[in-house]
Order: sequence, then C-alpha cells, then structure tokens
Amino acid sequence: MRVDLHIHTIYSDGTLTPEQIVDKAFSLKLRAIAITDHDTIEGIEPALNRAKEYSFFEVIPGIEINSFYLDEEVHILGYYIDWKSSFLRLTLKELQEERIERIKRIIEKLKKLGIEINFEDISVKASGTSIGRPHVAIALVEKKVVSSIEEAFEFYLDKGKPAYVPREKITPYYAVDIVKKSRGIAVLAHPGKVKNQSIVKSLINYGIQGIEVYHKDHDEEKVQYYKSIAAKYRLLMTGGSDCHGKPLIMGSQPVPYEYVVQLKQLKKHI
Ligand SMILES: [Zn+2]
Ligand SMILES: [Zn+2]
Repeated sequence: MRVDLHIHTIYSDGTLTPEQIVDKAFSLKLRAIAITDHDTIEGIEPALNRAKEYSFFEVIPGIEINSFYLDEEVHILGYYIDWKSSFLRLTLKELQEERIERIKRIIEKLKKLGIEINFEDISVKASGTSIGRPHVAIALVEKKVVSSIEEAFEFYLDKGKPAYVPREKITPYYAVDIVKKSRGIAVLAHPGKVKNQSIVKSLINYGIQGIEVYHKDHDEEKVQYYKSIAAKYRLLMTGGSDCHGKPLIMGSQPVPYEYVVQLKQLKKHI
C-alpha cells in the first residue's frame, strides 16, 4: 500500500486541481495522499470533499512552508495541521503579504533595468495561488524579454542576478513554530536538496518531528542516509513525489502506508 505525502495543487505552483489529484491518486491505487501547497491551505478542503467519494482512501491536510536559512531555501512540511484555525489563516495571510511585497520590489528592480512589468498582470496570473517568482518569470517570457522560464531565472531572478530580492524574513524555526502552533507535525522537506547540512542537526535540536526520506531528488544513497538520521534521532519518516502536475509523478516514490500510521499516532498526542 503506497502513499504520496508531498503534492502541490493549482493553489500554489501545481497544474492540477485538488479534485483532479484525488481522482488520479485513487486510480493509481494510492492509499493516502497529503496536499502540501506552498504557504496556503486552500487546496485542502476541495481535496477532502472529493475524497469522500472514495473508500479506503485518505487525504491528509498538509502544507509546505518556504523559509530561508543562510541564503538558501529550506522547506518545512506540516501534516495534520488544524487547517481551519484562525491562527494559521492569519499567519498565512501575513506570509502572503510578504510575498506580494517581494514581487513589488522585483518589479521595481526590473523597471530600473528598463523592463516594464505590471503588478496587476502578475497578480491576475497568480490569482488564488501563492504569488512568487515563477509568475514574474512567465510575464518576462510573455513580454519576450527572455525565451523561457529558466532563462528568466538565469538572467534576472536567481540569487545574484540583477532583479533578485531576498526573502529572508521567515526562518525554518519560525516555520516549525507555525506548524506546531497549528497542532501539526513538522517535517523537514527534501533535506538532500539543502546545501548547508548544518540545518538538519539544528532543526532536530529545535524539535522538528520528522524528516522527508523519499523524494524525487533523493537518490538511493540519500534515502538510506536520511533513514539513518531518522533512526538515530527518533524522527518520523515521510516521503512523496513533490508532484506539481507535470510530469505526473504522483505515487512514484515507494512510501509505505506505515508512515501515515505513525503520523496519526503522534497526532493523537498533540
Ligand atoms: Zn519544497
Ligand atoms: Zn514541494
């Protein structure tokens, strides 16, 4: 019985609706999935509603919070969060406002480089989702400033490039706090992608409860390494495809249902 505990919907940067994801996951014979959009819970309710049409299939309410540690992105997953809590809604609204501020600053920088992009155009593209640099990249492609989204990042938006604006307010510790205050289980996402590995130990000391061992960007060596870390520090293990719609890699990681059982057991004590 496989599960997939890391999936994005159109409410962040995925291309499928929560309903499409649930239908697909069930047809793939997955036993459970977690909806883990970046900094938003909007995809959870539609997925839970759709899942009622199926038996022996679970949707776990989740989130992936983007944070920054020593100039690089660190993502914190939250499972079984109380997604209806007003604390979480207010906090996410603040994060959203910070994202908007950042996009406005990027637009200002582009303007100084002679590239005119309208904030309204970008916010329309991002409507109902977490606005971010990919939306600016799409606008740059449409304006024919660059020929691809990759080029937009390479020439303007990546760290060290002329229109880069850091987003460093949110630390991984703050992200863990948000998850815990929402009565969820905090898990370090795809640790193998993080260059500065000191964050792993630091978050364990801080009280993170789990670590993502299976991920599309983890090779077998990394899977085994993070499993050993989990065993050593008594952390829960999770895993998922990090599917964003295309390519449709949902269910591609060998994540056992046992991981969900363990998440549920911990949730009972929160
Ligand atoms: Zn991530
Ligand atoms: Zn993700």
